[in-house]
Amino acid sequence: MNYKVYSLHNFKTIPQISKLTEEQIFDIEVVGRVLPFKTNNYVVDELIDWDKFETDPAFILNFPQKGMLKPESYDKMATLLRRGADKKEIDAAIAEIRLDLNPHPAGQLEHNVPEVNGQKLIGVQHKYNETALFFPSQGQTCHAYCTFCFRWPQFSGMDDLKFAMKEIDLLIQYVKEHPEITDILFTGGDPMVMSAKILGAYLNAIIDADIPHLKSIRIGSKTLGFWPYRYLTDKDSDEIIALFKKVSDSGLHLAFMAHFNHHIELGTKAVQDAIKRILSTGAHIRTQSPLLNNINADGEVWSTMWRKQVDLGLIPYYMFIARDTGAQQYFKVGLEDAWNIFRQAYKSVSGICRTVRGPSMSAAPGKVQVSGITEIEGKKYYVLNFIQGRNEDWVGLPFFAEYDPNAVWLDDLKPAFGAEEFFYEEEYRRLTSKTKINDYDDIEKAS
Ligand SMILES: *Cc1c(COP(=O)(O)O)cnc(C)c1O
Ligand code: SF4
Repeated sequence: MNYKVYSLHNFKTIPQISKLTEEQIFDIEVVGRVLPFKTNNYVVDELIDWDKFETDPAFILNFPQKGMLKPESYDKMATLLRRGADKKEIDAAIAEIRLDLNPHPAGQLEHNVPEVNGQKLIGVQHKYNETALFFPSQGQTCHAYCTFCFRWPQFSGMDDLKFAMKEIDLLIQYVKEHPEITDILFTGGDPMVMSAKILGAYLNAIIDADIPHLKSIRIGSKTLGFWPYRYLTDKDSDEIIALFKKVSDSGLHLAFMAHFNHHIELGTKAVQDAIKRILSTGAHIRTQSPLLNNINADGEVWSTMWRKQVDLGLIPYYMFIARDTGAQQYFKVGLEDAWNIFRQAYKSVSGICRTVRGPSMSAAPGKVQVSGITEIEGKKYYVLNFIQGRNEDWVGLPFFAEYDPNAVWLDDLKPAFGAEEFFYEEEYRRLTSKTKINDYDDIEKAS
């Protein structure tokens, strides 16, 4: 299958676009200036149900929607486009709206970067003891872009936010010096946009380094959802499969962390064949997704998705709470709803689907699970729990927050029982005071 990409400049050539009204097409042009917009022929021809595109999860996942911008931002951009404003003026408005969607100032990303021999490893993040994240510079794009993605500063030309890492040698040296690291997690963008040749250079170097404490290589990818032909008909697909097999055969666990947002992404022959091929290499596939209003905010969507995943040999892994950047007012699900959706789905699947954890917020101090809402002496509280912590000793200690029906993120919550702050906060400040970490340094994401 030939990969055909569509973006702002050619999406009107998609035949199915004739189903949209002029106004709906204009909305895409307006919002697509600000949010990342890229899709492809697999998504368009095999995933989207064009008879009901307005509510179709795959359509909303890739095509910018009017509601994703604040009304005043939408109006501003629409007015400029209608009156044929010049590029400079439009670019200035784009920058301003983007800054409003993602207010984290540039430059902060440099602060939590590990060092080897005094040299910064720009494409590496090491936050939790066991796992080093690696952002190969050639993997900083995707086969299509999720409209909810908060990594778009990496894709859309805001260069000072860009992660890049060319030398695997430094990463290997770093891992060797850190015996606590058991996992290297390749992330992006999407590392599976890399050619077999480049991915092979990285993976072979890791295999050859033969680091005794390194046990797993994880690859976070949305390719099974957006371009399963990566494993079937792309010209280096056989090399990719051979490479996965080589990793497994070397004794390392290859964990493919697949990003699926909806069970419709599991329904095509292409994705099912691609899954079979990947599993045939000895790799395991674990799945994760954020919980997204307008796409999957429904317990039944999740339980169906987990069941289908297990049927296909995948292991449900994480449900994330959508973070507070990007088009968050469009995608956000409150913490109470998130917990209810998780519970509805979790209780209705068999134990073998209950490998999934969540709903979880990837916040600066760690991954915080909303375990639930409970009542103590007639008063409601949130029960929270670290699944991962900047300090591992925080993991597995339940803690309480005041009930707040409007809370959507950890920083909306107040400690329960009149406490000044949560149990971890003092230590968190101490751990981060030297490195000036802010919330944005947590770049863990959905795929
Ligand atoms: C989620 C995450 C990991 C991996 O955590 P696991 O619970 O082991 O999957 C590693 N690093 C960062 C920064 C993360 O957010
Ligand atoms: S969420 Fe993942 S797959 Fe989607 S655009 Fe962002 S990095 Fe790419």
